[in-house]
Amino acid sequence: MFTDSHCHLSFPELQAQLPQIRQAMQEAQVDRALCICTTLEEFETVHGLATSYDNFWSTVGVHPDNEDVQEPTLDDLLQRASRPKVVGIGETGLDYYRLGERSVADMEWQRERFRVHIRAARQTGKPLVIHTRSASDDTLAILKEEGEGAAGQATAFEKARGVFHCFTETQAVARAALDLGFYISFSGILTFKNAGDIREVARFVPLDRMLIETDSPYLAPMPYRGKTNNPSYVPFVAQQIAELKQQSVQVIAEATSRNFEQLFTGVKA
Ligand SMILES: [Zn+2]
Ligand SMILES: [Zn+2]
Repeated sequence: MFTDSHCHLSFPELQAQLPQIRQAMQEAQVDRALCICTTLEEFETVHGLATSYDNFWSTVGVHPDNEDVQEPTLDDLLQRASRPKVVGIGETGLDYYRLGERSVADMEWQRERFRVHIRAARQTGKPLVIHTRSASDDTLAILKEEGEGAAGQATAFEKARGVFHCFTETQAVARAALDLGFYISFSGILTFKNAGDIREVARFVPLDRMLIETDSPYLAPMPYRGKTNNPSYVPFVAQQIAELKQQSVQVIAEATSRNFEQLFTGVKA
């Protein structure tokens, strides 16, 4: 019934609990999960989850926050994206939240890494899993520049597609992402008491363009806030959306699962 469109089951705290988590998923009717890659070093572990279990899939990508890791070339991404059960490119994007001593100008390496991922998405036709934090203007600008076909760019797909994951931006950013053809994914943050603004955005986003996720092990929804998150908690996100949209949880579960299949076409072999 439910689909967790974004989790990190390769992280040690979750991997150690995998049998219990799979049992809890079954009890909570969470049928599927997409295991998200954050470094090339981690890829074989993430991909191993997808090849070991029928209802797990994987992505390939290097998270914008990860420094001192192998920098992905276009070829690195394309090779791994061609492996069975790799259905998306990411997570990738921009994160200016932890600039520290640096300026936005110093983050050119992050923008270049994002561009490489967009090119991989356009060449493979696989959707992007986008992480953006304190950087929505640049994220949208680069997606517009790189994400659409332009003269001299020989790529197989006219347009990059994808999802803005763990959405915490404004309604204007949601509108811009929807206009680019992207989906919007909401996490357990939606259930937090102080997240009224994001609930308003969720009310605005059409149900046929919405996904749900845990982003586990982080961001456990209420009533588990502060604990280790896992995919079996994704129904709490659906429950919150059901209240906002005045629909049943079943309707939300079915719509977000259908959207997942439409975006990540590889999940229907
Ligand atoms: Zn993220
Ligand atoms: Zn993530």
